[in-house]
Amino acid sequence: MYRIVRLWDGSLNRMHFFPLAVPFIGVFASMTYLFGFFGISIISGVMDPPFLSSPAPSPKDRSAAPAAGPAKHFSPTEEGPSDYGLDKPEVIIVGAGTAGASAAATFARQGRKVLLVERCMSEQDRIVGELLQPGGLRALERLGLDACAKEGTDSVVVDGYAIIRSAEAGGAAAAPGGRRDSVMLYYPESDPENRSELFGKGVKPAAAATAKGGEAGRRPCSREGEVPRGRSFHNCRFVQRLREAAQAEPNVRVVEGTVSALLEGDGGEVVGVRYREAAKGEGQEEEERVTREVRAPLTVVADGIWSGLRKCANTNRPQKLSTFVGVLVKHAADAAPVPHKHCGHVVLAHPSPILIYQISSTETRVLVDVAGAMPSAADGGLSAHLREKSAPQLPAMFRPAFLEAVARGDVKSMPNRAMPASSVHRPGALLLGDALNMRHPLTGGGMTVALKDVELLSELLRGVPFRDAAAVASAAARFHAGRRAHAATINILANALYHVFSTPEDPASKGTRVDLQAACFDYLSLGGCYSAGPVGLLSGLSPVPWVLTTHFFMVAFHGCREHLLPVPTPGGVLRVYRLLHVATKIIMPLLEEEGSTFLAWWPFRKAIQLVLPWEHERWEN
Ligand SMILES: Cc1cc2nc3c(=O)[nH]c(=O)nc-3n(C[C@H](O)[C@H](O)[C@H](O)COP(=O)(O)OP(=O)(O)OC[C@H]3O[C@@H](n4cnc5c(N)ncnc54)[C@H](O)[C@@H]3O)c2cc1C
Repeated sequence: MYRIVRLWDGSLNRMHFFPLAVPFIGVFASMTYLFGFFGISIISGVMDPPFLSSPAPSPKDRSAAPAAGPAKHFSPTEEGPSDYGLDKPEVIIVGAGTAGASAAATFARQGRKVLLVERCMSEQDRIVGELLQPGGLRALERLGLDACAKEGTDSVVVDGYAIIRSAEAGGAAAAPGGRRDSVMLYYPESDPENRSELFGKGVKPAAAATAKGGEAGRRPCSREGEVPRGRSFHNCRFVQRLREAAQAEPNVRVVEGTVSALLEGDGGEVVGVRYREAAKGEGQEEEERVTREVRAPLTVVADGIWSGLRKCANTNRPQKLSTFVGVLVKHAADAAPVPHKHCGHVVLAHPSPILIYQISSTETRVLVDVAGAMPSAADGGLSAHLREKSAPQLPAMFRPAFLEAVARGDVKSMPNRAMPASSVHRPGALLLGDALNMRHPLTGGGMTVALKDVELLSELLRGVPFRDAAAVASAAARFHAGRRAHAATINILANALYHVFSTPEDPASKGTRVDLQAACFDYLSLGGCYSAGPVGLLSGLSPVPWVLTTHFFMVAFHGCREHLLPVPTPGGVLRVYRLLHVATKIIMPLLEEEGSTFLAWWPFRKAIQLVLPWEHERWEN
């Protein structure tokens, strides 16, 4: 098959190709469709194999703390917690963002003496980290820090998402045949507890349960604390509240300064940091700022997306996927001009998606994804892009407010970067947050991963003497193994959805991508487990990679159905092959990168590669 495909690229033309390839592709497509149909039957309840209904550990069990205290094989150390003080910290944390500030508060509550070094302690107005998924909020609740998201930030409750087709006639996502133009994806009524529920089976969306039939767009009645909910806010307000929570801990000392280097011991281990204190006042000259060195048995690097220190324990490098241009729309209190209140909106715009979500009672954020080169803000190119290319694709009711914000100049941009985590362990140092791992922000999963990581790491290190390098290394290894499920699910979902929701300019691949996008939209519109399963993944409440992989391939099979029914034709079979090929090219590199599910195991990878060739070319948009 691979050779045939190579020949197709090369010397053979269509006339020669068809007689050779159609029997192969026909058999292959029919088999894959049968498998797809079999899968759909299982999920829709026609067949109910035991693996879907067998009990699985509940989220509580899964998040249960490992046994507190050092494991037996840890070598005892002379030192105890009392040997540390605020001037001689047990752990230094670099960066007081979502990851660093929550880690500082958590370690301090476990009795550790923490030094938190942050470059700038005043509020930094950024367009990142403005929507926290329910899974992240649950982690925050377990850390005892949920008030930071819920109180004093003018935050907005998020009940789910609306996926909206582009309003522009003839836009990439516009579908013929009068199909519905939006699909509502409400978060579940309760946290999934067994394998069936993790898959989305038998899960009621909160809206359907509370609003009897769940009229689209209607906000479910508030059952705060019971129903999983998300929160959106100004990131700086949330982070500032986390910093206050950390500062309120007697075991935390906060220093405003920029870490320029990690200090190394004789064996190459990290033994502390060198930092430059922040200017004390307006008049202080650069050279007057004091440089200090401070040592501790453990340094946690949480210096964010631009991390200059991550290379100490991360062999991967970030890749830029696209840029988000953030526009801040202002409106009267609780009068956001959006189609679905209390929901995030994903507009399937061409060439890549646009996000809309309210971030305070009087403000709504729009994030326009710009794939490829950014138009210049200086010569007005960016404003023109927003006015002429983005605005026509937005819902009509939202357009005037958007154009007004663009005219006002409330526009900021930020690169979207992705980087898989590296499990390399550098003695004396650990990475957290964006310094460790990044994914496309389309699904708003970054803070959820960071907070779940803080929760897991702090539990694994509970009672471990940080001087005991072997004990810390063992906890770090368990941390990397333990985080794989939630991190891989959120990372793969974000990066895969970004590619499904983007349409390349190249006409050869555009048609198939539009097919896959339409298949995804239709699949989510089916309701039941077909929407509840993906919502569980999006919300961070179902951190299960096999659920993600299965739903992803089900979407592709769902798309195949259109081309094979009622009778498979050679043209239909070819489109099926192309659809499965594009789906494979999107998902397989991500599974391989995250080492996730049995499909990432090399015999399966190689077998799939033989039929549907793919390489690491996923950043092609
Ligand atoms: C455009 C965009 C939108 C996003 N939207 C969302 C979203 O809606 N939901 C979501 O969950 N995630 C989102 N993310 C991802 C999310 O922002 C990050 O995953 C999250 O903020 C990571 O937290 P962090 O603590 O690692 O980094 P940060 O929150 O960036 O914190 C890093 C801190 O380190 C400090 N620092 C840096 N260098 C030094 C140094 N040398 N010395 C001392 N201090 C230093 C910085 O000042 C900063 O305070 C988005 C990302 C992008 C790019």
